[in-house]
Amino acid sequence: MLKIGYHVSSSGGFVSMAKQALDAKGNTFAFFTRNPRGGAAKTIDEGDVAAFHKIAAENGFYKLVAHSPYTLNPCSHDEHLREYARDTFADDLLRMEYVPNNYYNFHPGAHTGQGVDVGIEQISDMLNSVLKEEQTTTVLLETMAGKGSEVGSRFEELRAIIDKVELSSHVGVCLDTCHVWDGGYDIVNDLDGVLTHFDSVIGLDRLKAIHLNDSLNPLGAHKDRHAKIGEGHIGFEAICRVINHPALKELPFILETPNDEAGYAREIAMLKAAYKE
Ligand code: FE
Ligand code: FE
Ligand code: ZN
Repeated sequence: MLKIGYHVSSSGGFVSMAKQALDAKGNTFAFFTRNPRGGAAKTIDEGDVAAFHKIAAENGFYKLVAHSPYTLNPCSHDEHLREYARDTFADDLLRMEYVPNNYYNFHPGAHTGQGVDVGIEQISDMLNSVLKEEQTTTVLLETMAGKGSEVGSRFEELRAIIDKVELSSHVGVCLDTCHVWDGGYDIVNDLDGVLTHFDSVIGLDRLKAIHLNDSLNPLGAHKDRHAKIGEGHIGFEAICRVINHPALKELPFILETPNDEAGYAREIAMLKAAYKE
């Protein structure tokens, strides 16, 4: 069965998020753990969480893919921003334990002129200070488009981060199709080659989730502008090969396409129809 969902609005809590996912016929979803632009997180409503667990069990939800706020930059040149990223990340990991055994995806960061090696060092330092042996959440490094000074647009950079993390069994990767395309990996004409390369550099066992997006820009553009499925430079056929690839087809696919709820429901139906069991 295709595991698919979209990035729902988190403002109404967990039950509301589950309902949005179910309305679009999804069986997983992504959500921001707090306001994507930063700020304090809402207190967790335990009743809401308990009701959510019931809905998730009844409907056979697959693992959720939470997303950290965009404002976290673990490798900013500004020490205060690095501290803010670390404290927020640690707090989010505590909150994630209310919904155990899921994923927490984050953008590795932008080195803001410090250079990619310093960036890799600071990102792994943060992970070493926040990851705990007993946590049930797997944190996912997202593959990035390579916009500005973003770290993580090359598989080798993600590998280097993972290599420096002590509790690396708690670390995986989320592949964003728009981002890798924008980063120069040709998933349209050579999906097999890209995945073979991913496997040799990082290991496909680390790949835990896919952000399924089309791209407004051509291969290697380093722009990061998402398009609706089939309406960008990746195209519907290539996206169908992604969801049906033997190395990927059991992973959760999360839509981050520019859509309203009806649009997500349409894309989910379209992808389910294209999925070969
Ligand atoms: Fe993201
Ligand atoms: Fe993404
Ligand atoms: Zn993006």
